[in-house]
Amino acid sequence: MSLSSFSNRQIRWNRLLLKGCWVVFLLSIATEFLYLQVTELPAAQFISSYIVRPAAIMGVILIAAEISLRYFSKHHDYILITTATLLTYTVTFVHSSLEYLLFLLFFPILISIFYFQYKKLVYAILITGVAFAALLAFNGEIEERMSSAGVLTMAIILLVYSGIGFGILARGKEILSHLRSSYESNQELLVRTIMMDKLAKTDALTDTYNHMAYHEYTDYLVAQADKEVLQLHLAIMDIDNFKKINDTFGHKAGDVVLRKVASIARLKTGSNDFVARYGGEEFVILFTEKSFQEAFDLVEDIRKEIAASSHDTLDGSNVTVSIGLNAYIPGMGKEELFKLADAALYEAKRSGKNRTVIAQPEQTPQHLAASGSC
Ligand code: GH3
Ligand code: MG
Ligand code: MG
Repeated sequence: MSLSSFSNRQIRWNRLLLKGCWVVFLLSIATEFLYLQVTELPAAQFISSYIVRPAAIMGVILIAAEISLRYFSKHHDYILITTATLLTYTVTFVHSSLEYLLFLLFFPILISIFYFQYKKLVYAILITGVAFAALLAFNGEIEERMSSAGVLTMAIILLVYSGIGFGILARGKEILSHLRSSYESNQELLVRTIMMDKLAKTDALTDTYNHMAYHEYTDYLVAQADKEVLQLHLAIMDIDNFKKINDTFGHKAGDVVLRKVASIARLKTGSNDFVARYGGEEFVILFTEKSFQEAFDLVEDIRKEIAASSHDTLDGSNVTVSIGLNAYIPGMGKEELFKLADAALYEAKRSGKNRTVIAQPEQTPQHLAASGSC
């Protein structure tokens, strides 16, 4: 998750918490109206002391919080913890006769846990302690009714809440670091799998696809071509007299030639074409979005470029290639696609090499059925 989306979520959480404070405010007023039905105090006095005054104070606190959240770009979390403390302080101060309401004072500690940060928890504990001390100092009734044992009990409960708060944060951080490390190792695994997959499909010498990748890819492309989703053409390209090159200049020089031929084929073809080393000095090129004429022109371009390139490792001499080109016809099948291209390649070799011959099934466009040569 990006840092900005994380802080957006934090802002949403803060808004939600402030809404929660408004709900507490409304609930406390509603509860007062219930108490109004059973109180022995005169209604006017009750409404003034327990409804209007606290509602006004709490309203001011909440509006101040709303304004602060809107106009301060920082410290939103502290503003909310402080708001919660002021609200609980007001409620417990007003209802000093209801001792159990003192437990509301721990509310900000619970809120601080939302932020999963020790410093905010510490702030909430401190401000809660201050609120409790202020209640004892400024509210005569609470001070009077609370024995030292009661104060001690509240202090111990504050400690226990704090301990639980720290425990939750520690546990949360533990889970987070566990999630992070498993996320990282999953990412690593994914990258490794992609790399392994690429290695398994790549020919190490020429950096083109290998024999296995050709078969995998052709299965898929033939299925698509059968549905007439794409136009498929296969060219098989074989280096002429390569054995002689090896015999004359050595196997290493032969390897350099293989790499050069492959790189010309890769550079000339586009992202929707597929170049693979089928084996030895034989390459296949699959075209997936070209017309027959375009495929023919491109293989001719490749052939001519190879023939025109001289090789330092061969003392400046050139190599040539022969090519068999076949257009896929729906229903032809993968084997036939290859067989016909191979037969065309054989014909190119037989008729003098350094040329492209087009496969000759009845359906192949006849106007290109002549061979191209230099
Ligand atoms: P043609 O024109 O009819 O294709 O004749 P050719 O000599 O090219 O064909 P042949 O099948 O007789 O010889 C292919 C040679 O390719 C034999 C083999 O040693 C060589 N070869 C196959 N793989 C590699 C390789 O990875 N590196 C090198 N340097 N040579 C290879
Ligand atoms: Mg050869
Ligand atoms: Mg060969």
